[in-house]
Amino acid sequence: MKYKSTRGKVKGISFSESVIMGLATDGGLIIPESIPQISEKQLFLWEKLTYEELAFEVMKLFIDDIPEDYLRDIIAKSYATFLHPEIVPIIKKDDLYIMELFHGPTLAFKDIALQFLGNLFEYLLEKRKQKMNILGATSGDTGSAAIYGVRGKKNMSIFILYPYKRVSPIQELQMTTVSDPNVFCIAIKGTFDDCQNIVKEIFNDLEFKEKNRLGAVNSINWARVLAQIVYYIWAVIKFKKPIRVCVPTGNFGNIFAGYVAKRMTGKIERLILATNENDILYRFINFGDYSLGEVIPTISPSMDIQVASNFERYLYYLYNEDSEKVAETMLRFKKTGKISFSKGEIEKVRKDFLSGYATQEETLNIIKKFYQETGYILDPHTAVGVKVALELKENFDTVSLATAHPAKFPEAVKRALGFEPEKPKAIKELESKEKRFTLLPPDTDAVKDFIEKHAI
Ligand SMILES: *Cc1c(COP(=O)(O)O)cnc(C)c1O
Repeated sequence: MKYKSTRGKVKGISFSESVIMGLATDGGLIIPESIPQISEKQLFLWEKLTYEELAFEVMKLFIDDIPEDYLRDIIAKSYATFLHPEIVPIIKKDDLYIMELFHGPTLAFKDIALQFLGNLFEYLLEKRKQKMNILGATSGDTGSAAIYGVRGKKNMSIFILYPYKRVSPIQELQMTTVSDPNVFCIAIKGTFDDCQNIVKEIFNDLEFKEKNRLGAVNSINWARVLAQIVYYIWAVIKFKKPIRVCVPTGNFGNIFAGYVAKRMTGKIERLILATNENDILYRFINFGDYSLGEVIPTISPSMDIQVASNFERYLYYLYNEDSEKVAETMLRFKKTGKISFSKGEIEKVRKDFLSGYATQEETLNIIKKFYQETGYILDPHTAVGVKVALELKENFDTVSLATAHPAKFPEAVKRALGFEPEKPKAIKELESKEKRFTLLPPDTDAVKDFIEKHAI
């Protein structure tokens, strides 16, 4: 399989090159040149596979430049860190199926992609005799999952900026208690925006970036989407008839993987996109209105997003693979903060997606109601999905994705239920560990100095 950019100026590159490239050099996003098809017969033959075996079969359709033994090894290492033998167990609660994606080391679904990406990078860097220093800013989940993906890996180190005293206590613990010498947590005396601006400025200094071999692991990397396609196919295989899948959505990364799986199998009748009060994608699907608003902070913070960085990938398919139209539209969007869609386009969108949203009050209510009815505790992100899934499932078997363990968001659960969820061992163990981080002012040069001293 070869890869190309949604904006058409990059094409014919290998899987490995696209992983290293991250964002396409023409400003677009990397996609495969075609979407492989899986027959019903093939799906049936995969029924008995373990999650890791299925991951290998699915990824092989997209990867032809990594020897099979190595690919198997990368996958095995990536999911050995998961605490559940089925990796992504599907359980039935009332009328709904819940696929738990939070059994990785940081208890959120980002582990599924970032464990894989860390091992993949390690393999590619070794082969290319290169080193890389990952740099990123986080307001919570992504930072810890990225750190756990990179910790202890050869030829890589990671620098994560976060706003000092402004991430949740559990997220801070998860980041700062990692003792591997290739992990650097940088607490910035400022806001998340300060952190992001510093990272942007550093990446814009191309000389510094080259010299210090800086790289990123953000949600636009194709390998992250690929790792996420696997669990949709896992779900499809478990049901003998078409299903709906409901996805609590922020950056459109998770649900875009679902869209690819839908195209590959034809067995996902609709994807249900659930948002919180940051509802740009809900407005897009229901009214063709894709226009930026202000970010509203909510109790499901990993979905507090307006510009969904993976949206461009879907736009490419919506526009019948017309790269020029994608490039034009994205440039215009950058200026105006708005994309308009024709009636025909909206009709097409609605063949793939349904969408609803949950306000914060509705989110707390569904956590309470679901607990009373089933004894199952939802985290606030998963709760947004469950609320919308129950509204829009109709008569379909519907799988709602659980993207975080409720113990990661104890305050929200307490507001809904009056008590905090029990802490899993993985969290309890962190509390006695030593914290390690460097406190720096919100100053780009101070961060650059620190990186230069510690980069490998
Ligand atoms: C990142 C995240 C999401 C949103 O996923 P996207 O791929 O950005 O749509 C939802 N829930 C949790 C817990 C997350 O960490």
